[in-house]
Amino acid sequence: MNVLRNHLPTADLQRLDAAHHMHPFSDGDELNAKGARVITSAKGVMLTDSDGAEMLDGMAGLWCCNMGHGRREMADAAHAQMLQLSYYNTFFQTSHPPVIALSEKLAELAPEGMNHVFYASGGSEANDTNIRLVRHYWAAKGKPGKKVIIARKNGYHGSTMGGASLGGMSAMHAQGGLPIPDIAHIDQPYWWGEGGDMTPEEFGLARARQLEEKIAELGEDRIAAFIAEPVQGAGGVIVPPETYWPEIQRICDAHEILLIVDEVITGFGRTGTMFASEGMGIRPDIITVAKGLSSGYAPIGGSILSDEVAETINAGGDFNHGYTYSGHPVSCAVALENLRLMVEEKVVETVAADTGPYLAEQWGTLADHPLVGQVEIKGMMAGLVMTPDKASRAAFSTPAGYVGLKCREHCFAGGLVMRHVGDRMIISPPLVITRSEIDLLITRARAALDATLVDVQKRGLMAK
Ligand SMILES: *Cc1c(COP(=O)(O)O)cnc(C)c1O
Repeated sequence: MNVLRNHLPTADLQRLDAAHHMHPFSDGDELNAKGARVITSAKGVMLTDSDGAEMLDGMAGLWCCNMGHGRREMADAAHAQMLQLSYYNTFFQTSHPPVIALSEKLAELAPEGMNHVFYASGGSEANDTNIRLVRHYWAAKGKPGKKVIIARKNGYHGSTMGGASLGGMSAMHAQGGLPIPDIAHIDQPYWWGEGGDMTPEEFGLARARQLEEKIAELGEDRIAAFIAEPVQGAGGVIVPPETYWPEIQRICDAHEILLIVDEVITGFGRTGTMFASEGMGIRPDIITVAKGLSSGYAPIGGSILSDEVAETINAGGDFNHGYTYSGHPVSCAVALENLRLMVEEKVVETVAADTGPYLAEQWGTLADHPLVGQVEIKGMMAGLVMTPDKASRAAFSTPAGYVGLKCREHCFAGGLVMRHVGDRMIISPPLVITRSEIDLLITRARAALDATLVDVQKRGLMAK
């Protein structure tokens, strides 16, 4: 079998990786000079690298391994499906049992009135679908002028041309001539960094009202949709003020625009409800899903559509769009097994009632660390911001990310994968993490913050 159980020594792996493998979101020369960390196996919440070092996976891979690593049931589901029907398409008036079963299951789990799914291979593709879908929707309703999608700065919606355009990452827009036309951005609800003298509540309202101002500025007859993540993930786990989403929902209701809620991270229990939309009182027309849908065991994403949107698209003639792997049978079988395990093992209930509140309590203890300005958490996704001066919410005098990278390196050395976004540290562990594993995560996070504080003090970066 072509499974690499034994492997070359780390230095050889790194040399070959540097020679032939182009990494996403990486500075190639810098990475190749240093050598990538090679992960060779994983079980539950623990990763093992090519030197045999163990690390707690505080990011669930890339926000996706919600059911933890190495579950036999998932492998068995893929194996059985490959033998039964390894591939067939869903383009030309055909279908297959796994895609039918998964669609029925998603309709059951999704919020009321959302009973239709269009599939993609991941979140970026699904958001590209959403762009085409909402424009086609308005055209089918006789309003082809409604094309503009309003999105947010520092939002993340993927890395394809469409996904990156919807996203508001300036570093991504700076390369390759993005955004594509007819995408507009409003500011994010990031109170710590941008709230100034306003209270979080005032700031949440002000940032939400930018949506209404943007609609007025561009003209409602040109707007197709607004897209946002319930809690920004890649932007740094930014939990919006309580006032934000109710105001966004009011504005979407008052205007003739669709609401696309990107739940690629927040879907399937991450925030303590099956979808964050339910827990946060959001009523989407379209939900983007991926990541936790299969816990990363197979690539799959999709758009869950409201009945009204689906019926309009269905009545609008051919929708000239699809991917070879839309509704891939193996991915669907794996996703179905993932959802079965989640439901049977009451993972969402446990996050809501037990491990989520416990993580919140423990993560909260980091707030008294001298480096930490603010901690934020929603279910099983959490962030903290490091600052030289808590009172003034100041940023470090070093370039954004300098201190964050130091902290991340200390985390890795101490056996914890925690990611940094600028000088924010973020976690999004597997949803199956236990209380004792949470204790280990917090102990290692605190040790990394202590080591970072020593660095920062040595460089004289703290406020006097
Ligand atoms: C990861 C992510 C995407 C992109 O998904 P891919 O599977 O990487 O294409 C889109 N939206 C959000 C909110 C994400 O976190």
